[in-house]
Amino acid sequence: MVTITISGADKSGALARISTFFVRKGYPLKGQQVTESASGAKLVKISLDLTHLDKAKLAAEIRSLNPDFRVVSVEGAHSAAPSIKDMADQFPDIASLVRAYGESFAPESRELELVEAGKKIGAFQYEKEWSFGSPLKMPVALRRTLVPALETFGEVDATDTDVTLPDSPFCGTGKIACCEFLTGFMQGFLDAGPLTQNTRVQKAACRAKGNSRCTYTFTYDL
Ligand SMILES: [Zn+2]
Repeated sequence: MVTITISGADKSGALARISTFFVRKGYPLKGQQVTESASGAKLVKISLDLTHLDKAKLAAEIRSLNPDFRVVSVEGAHSAAPSIKDMADQFPDIASLVRAYGESFAPESRELELVEAGKKIGAFQYEKEWSFGSPLKMPVALRRTLVPALETFGEVDATDTDVTLPDSPFCGTGKIACCEFLTGFMQGFLDAGPLTQNTRVQKAACRAKGNSRCTYTFTYDL
């Protein structure tokens, strides 16, 4: 459980506004209350059923809601590396978790570990959301199941043999690139489908390597 304390909540309706924000963003809200600081200012306390939280991102979001709001403390968030279970629980809002996971490995083993984590999450998502009905073959499986699953991460451009994410949340300059998580995600997702197991996924282009977008290619026999 993570407890967030927010100041600047003196105007009426602040609690409702803040709670609504967390619910709308998909945070697992477990409790909310207004308390008073020692000086009598109103504070909103929000409890979320989470173990990890991107504090910087949350602070910026809260400030954009109202410039008076300020995150004064976040308690209970783990600083240890997130687990694959955390990723499954918080899917699809997992880019910061995947990054923290990747950062916990040495550079030489990082890409492989990200691929393996991605495979597990991809297989899990396939089973959970996309395994109902008749199994599909490539390239229909790509269009009807994998692309919609990837669209939970953002915009996706697809053909029958490749997928491009113009603005992948797992990539970006100035941070470690976690794009190999998506290579694994797609591979695990397709390996879990009875009729797509013969498909190989490879990363062909990456913003972190100087390309304009991150692209993955698919090789399969019809
Ligand atoms: Zn990339």
